[in-house]
Amino acid sequence: MARTQRDYYEVLGVDRNAAPAEIKKAYRRLLIKHHPDKNPDNPEAEQKFKEAAEAYEVLNDPEKRQRYDQFGHAGLSGVGMHDFSGMGFEDILSMFGFGDLFGQIGGVGGMGRRRSRGADLQTELELTLEDVAAGVERTLEFTRRDYCDACGGTGAGPGSRQQNCHTCGGYGQVEQSSGFGLLMGRVITTCPSCRGKGKVFTQPCSACRGAGLAPKRRVVNVKVPAGIQDGQAIRVRGEGEPGENGAPRGDLHCYVRVRPHEFFQRRNNDLLLTMPIAFTQAALGAKLEVPTLRGRAILTVPGGTQTGQIFRLAGEGLPDLRTGRKGDQYVEVAVEIPTRLNKDQEQLLRSFAETEDKSVLPKSKGFLDRLVEYIAGVEGKKD
Ligand SMILES: [Zn+2]
Ligand SMILES: [Zn+2]
Repeated sequence: MARTQRDYYEVLGVDRNAAPAEIKKAYRRLLIKHHPDKNPDNPEAEQKFKEAAEAYEVLNDPEKRQRYDQFGHAGLSGVGMHDFSGMGFEDILSMFGFGDLFGQIGGVGGMGRRRSRGADLQTELELTLEDVAAGVERTLEFTRRDYCDACGGTGAGPGSRQQNCHTCGGYGQVEQSSGFGLLMGRVITTCPSCRGKGKVFTQPCSACRGAGLAPKRRVVNVKVPAGIQDGQAIRVRGEGEPGENGAPRGDLHCYVRVRPHEFFQRRNNDLLLTMPIAFTQAALGAKLEVPTLRGRAILTVPGGTQTGQIFRLAGEGLPDLRTGRKGDQYVEVAVEIPTRLNKDQEQLLRSFAETEDKSVLPKSKGFLDRLVEYIAGVEGKKD
């Protein structure tokens, strides 16, 4: 490091024998003061932000701090310092467990908030089209990791005392080697033994093994707005898992599955229904009683309606999720030709065919007639 460097204690504005908590507090103050959101396009602030990170990396680490105290900047060559100059703000922020800093104080854009917030959870909710039309409230029951009942989430067993974590020496963070060969680097991560708290209990809670968290049933009411689409998610804020060290809970994402309907097909906010009608209704016109998602409606089809023709029932569709404006229901008419006619019907239709002057097949012969004809034919060949 060729450039002249300021004294790290001076950078953080702390005394040479400042306690780790003071150093942490000072660093936090500088992160907020020099944060880019508060200092847009200010290279000086960026420089100070990074300088503070460098100072904190040294003074937060007992071994580095000791070398620095003894030998100054020269004592730090070869101890594996981060190069902050090329790093993004968010990476620097999250490096020493400050990722949640701006989520907690608010107003600075929630950088890195997701890092220490509790985990989000996902669940599915199956709805019918009728549910979608009306909007529903549903009760969901699920299991999530939650504060342990036995210890109230502290992780402490009965009669337990707190002591400094041996793994991290009470700092809550540990340095680990990562990668290999030329890419070997050192990263600072949350201490796995104390999960960043810096303290452990002499008697961990037996129910959760000191984790403070245990699986728990949870019942949540979810309001499903009318008009929701298949695959959309409803976010229920704060119903995810608890965050570490008192950070806010994650959210519950409730994915909606709309069950296919026996009669209705959905196209955005419109519905399509195929309605069988008799060929006489199609030919002569009729008032039809048509099912809707809310009951029934009367549809008048004019005489001369063709199969496949589509009619619109305005406002009988689904409400729009945002505006509430209702879509339409479309009714596609399927004209049915009778598969069986009684004698009178057949006679009437034959008379009708004559008026149309169109050739039709002759009256089909019955089975017995055909059988007699067959036998006569077979016998005739013998002669
Ligand atoms: Zn620890
Ligand atoms: Zn417990």
